Amino acid sequence: MAIRKIVQYPDPILREKAKPVKKFNERLHKLLDDMAETMYDARGVGLAGPQVGVLKRVIVVDPGDGLIEVVNPELIDPEGEQLGTEGCLSIPNLAGEVRRAERLIVKGQDRFGEPLEMEAEGYLARVFQHEVDHLNGVLFIDRADRVYHPEEEEDGEGEERLS
Ligand code: ZN
Repeated sequence: MAIRKIVQYPDPILREKAKPVKKFNERLHKLLDDMAETMYDARGVGLAGPQVGVLKRVIVVDPGDGLIEVVNPELIDPEGEQLGTEGCLSIPNLAGEVRRAERLIVKGQDRFGEPLEMEAEGYLARVFQHEVDHLNGVLFIDRADRVYHPEEEEDGEGEERLS
């Protein structure tokens, strides 16, 4: 495994639409392994392909309950609404208050191409929405009600969770 460089805003690659994965091969597995390692190294809770410069529809998330990899993710049946704080590993100097669906269903494939489906709610649902946005060239600053500089709150428990 290897830690990859995280693409930083305003790199134009963050505005491109990622392409579906068709080959579930060694190269994909290496990408997913590297993405997880990169996410943990940066103390993030999620990472999408374009954030490591790879325009493929792959995401990894782990808000603290274990690693979830989803290839070609789709979010369906969004319900409810939550307003909460988001930060992004690609825009580390900003945070924002973002409205997201409270719960939804995530469909996609695992690293071997087998279909997967799971329900997500609360913070996990938020991270999935943030990551799938990355696959479509959308950033949290596009959706935020309010964007601010969180540097005053960097120390202690108020630390932003970045994805
Ligand atoms: Zn992000």
